[in-house]
Amino acid sequence: MWPAPGPEEGPEDASMTNNGGVNPFETARKQVDIVAKILKLDAGMTEILKSPKRELTVNFPVRMDDGSYRIFTGYRVQYNMARGPCKGGIRYHPQVTLDEVRALAAWMTWKCAVVGLPYGGAKGGVVCDPKKMSKGELERLTRRFASEILPIIGPEVDVPAPDVYTDSQTMAWIMDTYSMQKGYSVPGVVTGKPLSIGGSEGRAEATGRGCMYVVREAARQMGLATKGATVAIQGFGNAGSVAARLMAEELGVKVVAVSDSKGGIVNRAGLEPVKVEEHKTRSGSVVGFPGAQAISNAELLELDVDVLVPAALENQITKDNAGRIKAKIVAEAANGPTTPEADEILFKNKVTVLPDILANAGGVTVSYFEWVQDLQGYFWTAKDVNDRLEKVMSSSYAEVAKIARQHGVHNRTAAYILAMERVVEAIRARGIYP
Ligand code: NAD
Repeated sequence: MWPAPGPEEGPEDASMTNNGGVNPFETARKQVDIVAKILKLDAGMTEILKSPKRELTVNFPVRMDDGSYRIFTGYRVQYNMARGPCKGGIRYHPQVTLDEVRALAAWMTWKCAVVGLPYGGAKGGVVCDPKKMSKGELERLTRRFASEILPIIGPEVDVPAPDVYTDSQTMAWIMDTYSMQKGYSVPGVVTGKPLSIGGSEGRAEATGRGCMYVVREAARQMGLATKGATVAIQGFGNAGSVAARLMAEELGVKVVAVSDSKGGIVNRAGLEPVKVEEHKTRSGSVVGFPGAQAISNAELLELDVDVLVPAALENQITKDNAGRIKAKIVAEAANGPTTPEADEILFKNKVTVLPDILANAGGVTVSYFEWVQDLQGYFWTAKDVNDRLEKVMSSSYAEVAKIARQHGVHNRTAAYILAMERVVEAIRARGIYP
């Protein structure tokens, strides 16, 4: 049985940070066991892939607005550095645990490897409730946490990015804190920064754009014409709304249903994503969009469409509804939307699943481009960024699809095979020190 991954890089809803009570690190370790068997890895190599390389726990005080001091706990886990500096987000959430951070760091390792980025994986987290903190408190917490992990981060070592409840402002504070300690500006220490301090064009829409490219490639291979193909999208946030707009604009699909946490809308004649976005900005939800009928999130998943894009929460496609999924392609813009049991059902029903570590890797890919631009001090146009992203996503899809065919496995297993093979190759090439 193939265990589902949890959330990975990218801002996510708070409820996503627990994987249904299952210890996410146990899940991540089981995934390695499954692929290690397929790759016939020996026990030593398997154990390396199951072990985080470096873990730092910090307990640090922050001055609160009322003059009191509180101690916060934070983590940074660097999972594997065989392929290059570590990459992974920092999340602020009351339920952050070391095991969760370890698992997320493992998944970042595989995600970076599957799209061929010269990175290892890392993740960080601070146990806090950012919704109950002022901007000043968050700035002091961020700057102090950055100082505490400063010895193990840096452009050549480990490059953080935004995740749950952290954003470009958080990254700007980390970049500034690191730069102040060094005595000069170091933009390459984090990605997801504002454009004014070394952020990249195209970063904001990278996840949705990357998802659009892999859908296009899968459709092409399946002989499914995208022009006029019907699409339903669960979750109309950063990833989902961009995927909707770009699939309509660049692939000519007909987006017939979208949803958010308040509910969904459907119109078989087609919805205009830009107009739906305007409606959501005005009213706070896609619900009530003129000319569309209301639909529940559960109903949306089971619509008779060509492409389904889960772009909201974990565990949406389960053994209970997987048999009723009619889409030909399920493109996982969200992290972990499909449970392991559902995976098997979809595979049996010949639904093509584009797994999260591939379908939403556009975000980390453009983070990589941001880092490259920062190191070179030379910035690319949006077209440069998008063209390069397109190459990475299409070639990664082709490699995953080839492995799936060769091994007779579904795309998720194929993506993990590709990722772990690459990490193993790097470990073997370097050898075990000393
Ligand atoms: P977001 O907060 O911008 O959007 C999430 C959307 O999901 C919102 O529209 C929200 O209303 C909706 N939603 C919440 N609960 C829902 C429910 N019960 N049913 C239906 N919709 C619901 O977040 P995002 O950045 O778009 O992230 C969405 C998913 O994509 C997450 O799984 C995240 O890990 C993944 N992801 C995002 C990025 C990125 O760069 N943004 C990168 C990689 C992965």
